[in-house]
Formats: sequence, structure tokens, C-alpha cells
Amino acid sequence: MLQSKLFTKTQKEDPREEESTNAKLLIRAGYVDKTMAGVYTFLPLGWKVIKKIEEIIRREMVALGGEEISMPTLQPKKNWETTGRYDAYDTLFKFQSFFTKTDYVLGPTHEEIVSPLVGKFVSSYKDLPVRIFQIQNKFRDEKRSKSGLLRGREFLMKDLYSFDADPKELEKYYEKVKKSYAKIFRAVGIGRQTYLTYASGGTFSKYSHEFQTLTNAGEDAIYVCDKCRLAVNREIIEDVHGACPECGNKNLREEKAIEVGNIFPLKTRFSSAFGLKFAGANGVENEIFMGCYGIGLNRLMGTIVEVSHDERGIIWPEAVAPFKFHIVELKKGKGRALYEKLIKSGAEVLYDDRDATAGEKFADADLIGIPWRLVVSDKTKDKVEVRKRSESKSKLISYGSLGQLL
Ligand code: ATP
Ligand code: MG
Repeated sequence: MLQSKLFTKTQKEDPREEESTNAKLLIRAGYVDKTMAGVYTFLPLGWKVIKKIEEIIRREMVALGGEEISMPTLQPKKNWETTGRYDAYDTLFKFQSFFTKTDYVLGPTHEEIVSPLVGKFVSSYKDLPVRIFQIQNKFRDEKRSKSGLLRGREFLMKDLYSFDADPKELEKYYEKVKKSYAKIFRAVGIGRQTYLTYASGGTFSKYSHEFQTLTNAGEDAIYVCDKCRLAVNREIIEDVHGACPECGNKNLREEKAIEVGNIFPLKTRFSSAFGLKFAGANGVENEIFMGCYGIGLNRLMGTIVEVSHDERGIIWPEAVAPFKFHIVELKKGKGRALYEKLIKSGAEVLYDDRDATAGEKFADADLIGIPWRLVVSDKTKDKVEVRKRSESKSKLISYGSLGQLL
């Protein structure tokens, strides 16, 4: 892509009204625009990052046997009354139709839709298990919204729901998803900082699990066991008497973290509310055991920025970067041949073909944070100056040996 054709521009100054590093950098670099508090527009660069994250997650969901659907954001009040959450869910957006006076809810999650949906198709043990996921917008009336992409009032979530014939099957699937989540967080480049964290509310075990990423921008406190490489959250630290639930280690380290994912064994909480039953092989009716598994895509993108940046800008892990290469030409037209060569080889390239000073171009390249910066100028002659965004050293290489970076 030609940088001169991007309709967005970078900003030199931090946006006013933003406190968080992720929002400041993402807005300045032209990834997102703030529409209002807690609500962001994804711009061309930002949408590319979301799509990369989305694909990494989707691949894992499909590997878990997930079938992708899309459920409505606009949801009926009565489903929320059925589960008792119309009044109990603290961040629910509620409103009424002007014409019909029908009451609606803007979906903050989809148990109230997916449970009766599955009930329409499952009647026998032969119809189970079912694994359904979607990737779409959620709405939550969050009290505070000062953490940029980490806590939005409208945000993208991947939510997976599982339906099994008994608790054992649910548990097996739950363990599979746990592994898959760890894989996703490694793939997007935050594996080292992300901890499986014990939380309250499980069923077959006493726990549910969160995936918490260490960052000072985090709003949660977790207690890390370095021996087991896991953590417990604030809700249950007292219940476990300040010790690691796996090895009993009392030396837990308190850290600030942000919850990037959550897996929860719902058991029959929602299936029984909607009367979901199936006939077993012996004809006896049984209850269905559900699990739900969420990852916030916006929050994940913001978290990556929180853990991977420096004073000059973002440092994208290659797997989620909007482009792999950023060609910076210091002489008009000098980057064109290189751009075409890389595009032909299938690489994703942003080409800074703008009329701007070298200083402006370098500052923007650092701010935008594409993994490989390729500078061409009079000085580089028939070579390219290559620098990795995460490193300070650069080296001159010939066009021919660029292939090794592909
Ligand atoms: P938190 O305690 O941080 O509010 P939650 O427990 O309400 O999170 P879940 O209901 O489990 O979150 O939602 C699943 C996932 O959706 C979370 O793990 C997180 O990644 C994401 N998420 C939740 N709320 C928000 C939000 N307001 N903005 C962006 N992402 C969110
Ligand atoms: Mg919440």
C-alpha cells in the first residue's frame, strides 16, 4: 500500500482526553479514531491488525470443531428475564422501541440467544456435542472507560459456546480450549506475559479460568506462582489462603494484569433456564452441559500495544502487524522498484512515497511500528538499509538477499 494514499495521517501530539498508552499510540499512529468515550472507529491500519488477530483466533476455533455463526446484537428482553439477568447484569444496555414499545437489550454476551437456538436443533444424544462461535460486536455500559481499547462500551469479542451430554465431556473440551487459548496468546506475541489464572465460579472444579497479561495498564491484580507458571485472581486469593492451588506455594507475587480471555464451565445454568434437554441412548431425558469461552479482540490489540512499545511508538509482533515491511524512501521514486519486487513475492508492504522530510518519515515509521524498516536513499546506493523495529542496529543488504527476510 502507498502511504500517500492512506486517508489517515499520523499526529505529533498525544490526543487530549486519552490517559492510556494504547489509545495515545494507536490514535497518533492512525490505527483508530475515538468516536466517543469507550467507542472507537478502526481505520485502515487498525482494521488490518484486527483482521490478523481475528484469523489467528478463527483458525484455533475451527481446529476446536467450532462452527461459525453470527447472532444478533439486538436481543429480546424476555430472554434476559428467563435467565434472571435482565436486572442482575450490571452493564446491560436497555432501550425501548419508539413505535411498538417493545423492550430490547444490546447484547453484552450471547448465552440468552445461543441457548434457545441450540434447543431448536438438539433433541437426542446423537445431536451432541455442539460447538458454536462468532466474532462480533458486544455492548456494555461500562462505568469507567479510560483504558482505551482495553475497556470499551462497544467492542469485538470472539465467543465460543459448547454443549455436551455430561460433565465429563464438558471437562474434556474445556481442557482442550484452555490449551488452544494459550496457543492463541503465544501466536499474537504475548505468550511470555500471559498467565492462566484461577478465578471463581467453576463447576466441576471450584474454578473458572482467566488469561491475564501482565502490564501496568492492567485493572486487575493477580497473584503469580512462579513454580507453576499460573496465577490466582483477587476474587479467590482469600479462598485459597494466599497459596497456589496447584503446589501450595505461599510466595505468590502480586502483579497488575489485564484479562484478555476467559473460559467458564456454565454447566446447566443456561440450558436449564431455557429447558434444554436431550434423550439419551436409553430414552431417558438428560440435561445439557454448557461452557462459554471469550476473547476480546480490541482488548487484545490494546494489550499487545501496552506490552510492546517504546518511547517512539508501537512495536508490533510480526503475526499481527498491519504490514511486514515499511519501505522508507528518502529520494523520490527510489523505493518503487523494491516495492514492486516485494509485492510480487506476496509480501505485505507499506511504501512511504510521501513528500516529507527524512525526520518525519523515520518518526512515523517508529510510531506505526511495522516490524521491518527498509530505507532506500542516495546513500544506500544499490542496497537497502534494513532495521528491525525491535532492535537498534541496522544493516545494509543487497536487494537479492532480501529474500531471506520473506
Ligand atoms: P472485566 O472483568 O475486565 O470487565 P469480564 O469478566 O466482564 O471482563 P467477560 O464477560 O468474561 O469479561 O468477557 C470475555 C472477554 O471479553 C474478556 O476476557 C475480555 O477479553 C473481553 N472484554 C470484556 N469486557 C470488555 C470491554 N469492556 N472492552 C473490551 N473487551 C472486553
Ligand atoms: Mg466486565
